[in-house]
Amino acid sequence: MSHDRSLLANAFDLARMPGATDDHRQLRDALRRFVDRELAPHATDWDEAGEFPRSLYRQAAQIGLLGLGYPAEYGGTPCDTLSRIIATIELTRAGSGGLIASLMSHTIMLGPLLAAASQSLCARIVPRILAGEAIGALAVTEASGGSDVARLATRAQLVDPRSPQAGWRLNGSKMFITSGMRADHYLVAARTGEPGARGISLFLV
Ligand SMILES: Cc1cc2nc3c(=O)[nH]c(=O)nc-3n(C[C@H](O)[C@H](O)[C@H](O)COP(=O)(O)OP(=O)(O)OC[C@H]3O[C@@H](n4cnc5c(N)ncnc54)[C@H](O)[C@@H]3O)c2cc1C
Repeated sequence: MSHDRSLLANAFDLARMPGATDDHRQLRDALRRFVDRELAPHATDWDEAGEFPRSLYRQAAQIGLLGLGYPAEYGGTPCDTLSRIIATIELTRAGSGGLIASLMSHTIMLGPLLAAASQSLCARIVPRILAGEAIGALAVTEASGGSDVARLATRAQLVDPRSPQAGWRLNGSKMFITSGMRADHYLVAARTGEPGARGISLFLV
C-alpha cells in the first residue's frame, strides 16, 4: 500500500512555531534521521509481513524516542508539548500507522500505569519498556465494545490465598490490542466489582 507520508509533516513548519528552540530542532532532526533510515525504507514490507523486528524497540530507545515525555527516574526524558507534537509528526513520515502504533504501544499503557501503580511496581516495569527491552500494551477493548468501556465483561476474581495459585484470576477475552501478540507486559482492564465504570480495575499481566 502506498501512502503520501509527507502531507501532514510538510504542513507543519517548526520555524513558524512560537517557542521553538534549538532543542526542538535537534529533536526533529534526530527523529527525522531515524525515520528516514530505519523506518520508512522498510515500512511497506513490514506492513505486508504483518510484523517488524523486535530490535527496533531498542533502536528507538537509543535515540530517546521511547522515553520521550516520561519521568527521568524511570529512564525517560520529560519534555514539553511541542516536543510531543514534533515526535508525532516526524513519525508520520514513516508512512505506516500500524508500525508507529506498535512501536509506541507503551504510550497508551504507561499513562494509566504511572497514574495508578505503586512506585516500586513502576520501577520494576517502566525502565525496561523505555529502554526497548520489553514491550508494553494496554488491553481494554473486547467484543462487547471498545467505546463503552463501562460494559466490559472480563472478570477478575480473587483466588483463595492458601491456594498455590493465590492472586487474581482473569476470565475473558480482548480484541484489537496493539502489540497484543508479543507484548511482555499487558495492562488489562477487568471487572472486580459492580456493573458500570466503577467496578473496573487494572491488572498488570
Ligand atoms: C488500529 C487499532 C488499534 C487498537 N489498539 C487497541 C489497544 O491497544 N488496546 C485496546 O484496548 N483497544 C485497541 N483498539 C480498539 C479501539 O479502542 C476500539 O476499536 C474503539 O474503542 C472502538 O470500539 P469498537 O471497535 O468496539 O466499536 P464500538 O464501540 O462498537 O463502536 C462502533 C461505532 O459506534 C460508534 N459509537 C459507539 N458508542 C457511541 C455512542 N455512545 N454514541 C455515538 N456513537 C457511538 C463508534 O463511534 C463507532 O463508529 C484498537 C483499534 C484499532 C482500530
